[in-house]
Amino acid sequence: MRPAAKKLLTPATIPHFRERLLGWFDKNKRDLPWRKNRDPYRVWLSEIMLQQTRVAAVIEYYQRFLKKFPSIERLAAAREASVLAAWSGLGYYRRARMLHAAAKQVVKEHKSQFPSTAEELRQLSGVGRYTSAAIASIAFDQPVAVVDGNVERVIQRLLGKNLADETIWQKATNLLSTKRPGDFNQAMMELGATVCTPRQPSCLLCPVEQFCVARGEIKLEEKKVPQRKQEAFYALNRRRDGILLKQRPHTASLMPGMWELPEVTNPNGTKVLFTLKHSITVTDYTVRVLEGAGLQNAGAKWIAPSKLDRIPLTGLTRKILKAAGW
Ligand code: SF4
Repeated sequence: MRPAAKKLLTPATIPHFRERLLGWFDKNKRDLPWRKNRDPYRVWLSEIMLQQTRVAAVIEYYQRFLKKFPSIERLAAAREASVLAAWSGLGYYRRARMLHAAAKQVVKEHKSQFPSTAEELRQLSGVGRYTSAAIASIAFDQPVAVVDGNVERVIQRLLGKNLADETIWQKATNLLSTKRPGDFNQAMMELGATVCTPRQPSCLLCPVEQFCVARGEIKLEEKKVPQRKQEAFYALNRRRDGILLKQRPHTASLMPGMWELPEVTNPNGTKVLFTLKHSITVTDYTVRVLEGAGLQNAGAKWIAPSKLDRIPLTGLTRKILKAAGW
C-alpha cells in the first residue's frame, strides 16, 4: 500500500506546485528550435506543425520551412503549391492550407503583426482553442491555460480521476502561473511528454510527485479509434527524364491538388515491384507498387526529377519514390 499523500493540490499548495514545476522546466527543458525566441510567427508555425505530429518528426521540417519562408510576409506571398511542397511528408495537409490562409489574414487584416490575445488569435484560419492559448501565452505572456493530450493526462493523474474536458480546462486555469504563463504551459506539456508519459510514468523523477494523487496508478480512459486495414495499388512508370505522376482533384476531400503515382484499380496479372505499409489517419494500408507502361493513367504527366522538390507530393508518394531509389 502506498503512503497517504502528504500535500495534495489545494489553493494553499498550488503556489509551491508552480514553483516546483517551473524550477524543473528551467533545468530540464528540451532544446527545441522553436524555443530559441518568442517570435509569434515561429511559435505559431511550431504549434501548427506539432498538431498530430511528434516533436522528433517536426524538427527538420520546421527548420526547412523557416528557411524557405522566414517571415509571415514571405509565407503569405507564396504560391499554395510551394507551401504544400515544403509541407510534403508531414501529413494532414489541411493544416498547411489553413496556415497559408492565416498568413494572408495576418498580413492583410493586421498589417503583418500577429494579434496578441487568445480571442483575436482564434479568428485566424486553423487556430482553435488550444493553439490560440499556446501562442497568446508563449509569445505574448497572456495568462491563458492550454490543454493538449499531455496536459489532460497530467491533470487527471494529479487529481486521481477521469474528468470531463471542460473541467480539465478549468483545473488547468486554476493551476496556471500568471507570472510565467507561457513557461508554465510549456512545462505542463513537457512533463507529460517526458516524465508523465502515457504508459509508464517516471514518478520517481517527477518534480511534482508530492502533489499527485494517482502516482501513476490511475487507469485513464483510452480514446482509441480502431485502425481499418486496406490494400492499395500504385503504378510506378519511370524513364530517364521523368516519372509518371497524377495530380489529385482540387475538389478531393483528402490531399486536394497534391501529386501522386497513378492509382491502379485493377492490378490483375501485373508484376508487383515491392510492397510497403502506410497509415493515414485511421487506416493502415498495404501498398503494392506495380511496374509497367500499360499502367499509364489518363491525366498523368511525366515529371522531371529536378521538379520533384517543387511540387507538392503526397507523403506516400515520397515514401514509394524513396523505396524505389529516387
Ligand atoms: Fe505523473 Fe507520476 Fe508525476 Fe503523478 S507522480 S504527475 S503520475 S509522473
